[in-house]
Amino acid sequence: MTSAPDDPASPAGAGLGWPRLHPTTQSAYNRILWNGGLSKSEVAKELGLSRTRMTAIARDLEAAGLIVEGGREQRANTGRPADMLLAKTDLFHFLGVHVRADELVAAVIDLTNKVVWERRQHVAELDPSVIGAQCRTWLTKAKADGLRVAALAVCGSVERIDGATEGFGLQAVAPEATRSEWEKEFGIPVWAEDDIIALTAFEQWPRLAEDQDSMALISLGRDIGFGLVADRKIILGAHGRAGRFSHVQVANDGARCPLGHRGCLWAESSTTSIVNDIADAQTLGDVIGQAAQGEQTASERLARAARGLGVAAGHILNLLDPDKVILTGDSPLLLDSRTKDFDEGMRSVYTVPDPPVIEVTVFDFLEWARAAAGLALYRRLAEHDH
Ligand SMILES: [Zn+2]
Repeated sequence: MTSAPDDPASPAGAGLGWPRLHPTTQSAYNRILWNGGLSKSEVAKELGLSRTRMTAIARDLEAAGLIVEGGREQRANTGRPADMLLAKTDLFHFLGVHVRADELVAAVIDLTNKVVWERRQHVAELDPSVIGAQCRTWLTKAKADGLRVAALAVCGSVERIDGATEGFGLQAVAPEATRSEWEKEFGIPVWAEDDIIALTAFEQWPRLAEDQDSMALISLGRDIGFGLVADRKIILGAHGRAGRFSHVQVANDGARCPLGHRGCLWAESSTTSIVNDIADAQTLGDVIGQAAQGEQTASERLARAARGLGVAAGHILNLLDPDKVILTGDSPLLLDSRTKDFDEGMRSVYTVPDPPVIEVTVFDFLEWARAAAGLALYRRLAEHDH
């Protein structure tokens, strides 16, 4: 995707957009930003640049207003003081919009991933014109509040928008043709992507400086989504379909899913399937409530779901050997006091003696929007990085 021309006359456009940078200059900037400041020689070393080339790059970045000199600082790697380059982090902002069936949630972040602005809007129905109109309004308001939005990401599940009926995914509300119209109208790059990819970018992007090269994210809900990072890149697949892993077999017996699999992850662990199996339960919370009151059926059903999730995580560990696995969505709710079942499932396939790094993280509705904004930032900076 190419950047749209910066059009100061564009009504909702952010005015002066992200400056066009040579790929190497963009890479240098990214290194400075991720690391919270670096000396010239550190950047030059990371990117294999000559001193002359690095001096020119620092000059270009300063002229673009993207970095400032940060004074001299003692550097651990050389033991000598060096002139620091610091990124200006409040110069540009990134808008993320998370699409749910009856609500749009917006978050604006600055270059350090910090949320500086947020809004929620109830919507009676979802179609591209509703989303376009709301994005236009928010861009105008953010601009009036002094924010310079340099990119926009509209995110939601490609399988099924949260709270929507089956088969109603992101494509229905932000098709490619509409996305490119928004890009022209708003005068900034616009991405429309799966929210699992956004969450993956959000979790991976700030960790680049810590040498986190790979990770897997599993989001449990009515459906189960997977986000994968390898060699510092989000795996999208040749056709944008990577991470479809929710029908892998995790139990030899077990429930049947609508596709006819027996004991697949969806049948064993999706909240849809758990709730369907328990009488009088409408939500996962109901099933957990029943289990807490000593109902054996509910308790055993949850244990099976946790074990299934563990087997799936074990397969991912075997396949990718990631730095870490993040479990989110309804996983924290399911795994609360059921980590033994999860571990048992994982250990039935993952046989490496060292325990893997597994994080269980809660994301609320705002964090999905924040993740979308993080994706806009990530895409914007990574577009020309090499
Ligand atoms: Zn299945």
